[in-house]
Amino acid sequence: MKQSQLFTKTLRSIDKEEKSISTQFLLKSSFIYKELAGAYVYLPLGLRVLNKINDIIREEMNAIGGQELFLTSLQNPELWKKTDRWGDESVDNWFRTKLKNNTELGLSFTHEEPLTNLMKNYISSYKDLPKFAYQIQTKFRNELRAKGGIMRCREFLMKDMYSFCRDQKEHEIFYEKSKQAYINVFERCGLGDITYLTFASGGVFSKYSHEFQTLAKNGEDTIYVDKKRKLAVNKEVYNDEVLNNLNLDKKDLIEERAVEVGNIFTLGYKFSTALDLQFTNENGVKQNVFMGSYGIGPGRVMGTIAEIYNDKNGLMWPKNVSPFNVHLLDFRTNKDDKFYNILQKNNIEVLYDDRNENPGVKLKDADLIGIYYRFILSDKLGDKIELKKRTDKTNQILSQKESLDLLKKEFFK
Ligand code: ATP
Ligand code: MG
Repeated sequence: MKQSQLFTKTLRSIDKEEKSISTQFLLKSSFIYKELAGAYVYLPLGLRVLNKINDIIREEMNAIGGQELFLTSLQNPELWKKTDRWGDESVDNWFRTKLKNNTELGLSFTHEEPLTNLMKNYISSYKDLPKFAYQIQTKFRNELRAKGGIMRCREFLMKDMYSFCRDQKEHEIFYEKSKQAYINVFERCGLGDITYLTFASGGVFSKYSHEFQTLAKNGEDTIYVDKKRKLAVNKEVYNDEVLNNLNLDKKDLIEERAVEVGNIFTLGYKFSTALDLQFTNENGVKQNVFMGSYGIGPGRVMGTIAEIYNDKNGLMWPKNVSPFNVHLLDFRTNKDDKFYNILQKNNIEVLYDDRNENPGVKLKDADLIGIYYRFILSDKLGDKIELKKRTDKTNQILSQKESLDLLKKEFFK
């Protein structure tokens, strides 16, 4: 991608209304654009980051047997009445609307009801189980306060997976696998060291649900962290009985602020009972399907990464989610595409700053955008490249071949 062709530009001023540093930088660098409170546009650079996060999530969900589908956002009230989730009394964040013929429909805030109902077409015998379906799809929630930029929106993407098992035992095997898959996702997104498996309130079938909480100064949630055991407890369930039950000692726990980036939940028979999702077991007896749900907010993950990885000059994307591998800044008087083409031919993702701007402007933009590697071409360097990682303080100077080898080693191990 040539920067001269990119329709977005970095902005000069910051939006003072946005409190979080990550949102200020994401807006200033034109990764996102604010349409309304709680509704953001992903611009070309921002969409590249979001798609990288989505791809990581996809790989990890596929690896544990997840099958991707794409449900509709328009919701049939009849299904939600069956689970008693249609009214404002039971769900306070619905967006609901009327059709021309005066019937009602809703915009999805989650998808248990339609997917459970859909599965009735495909699950009838124990031989059909277990099954795991997921999507990366839009959710609408009439949030009281939309804040933290892309971290709490009224329209946002969610990866939501649902598991359908024969019984609790089969469910628990998958539930444990999903924990590891989630750990892998956050690790690959650069949040591994600071993301904690956190005990939170459960439902009828399980004492706890599990959240994945990433430590961040401005996080909305309060959690109590045992750093040694890499576990945490959400404030909502933090009491002596729970600590005892989890074998945690108060004196090992530190109070921290955190962002809930993901959440896994045992649903049990709640939805299969209400919507009549049954299968015939080995003995010919009908049984309800045992379910679980597993969410991640890719936009919230992106916002959290931006919140953690920045300095006073801008963003600093971790390797796997950087919008490009290399930001190639060309300071030469007579610019040509040769090295840019070589990088592209070798499948290196490059943003090539070929604009007729002075070096100061290019360096400032590169720091703000925060691509993992910064390469410089200049008249003074001749055929050599000056390169550094966004997070490094010092440069190195290498030949074109050496720098290409370095990239290959870094990105295609
Ligand atoms: P929260 O407690 O933050 O309101 P939740 O517990 O309602 O979220 P879930 O319904 O479990 O969240 O959704 C799964 C994931 O979707 C969350 O872990 C989070 O990453 C993301 N998510 C939830 N609400 C939003 C939102 N308003 N904007 C962006 N991402 C969200
Ligand atoms: Mg929550």
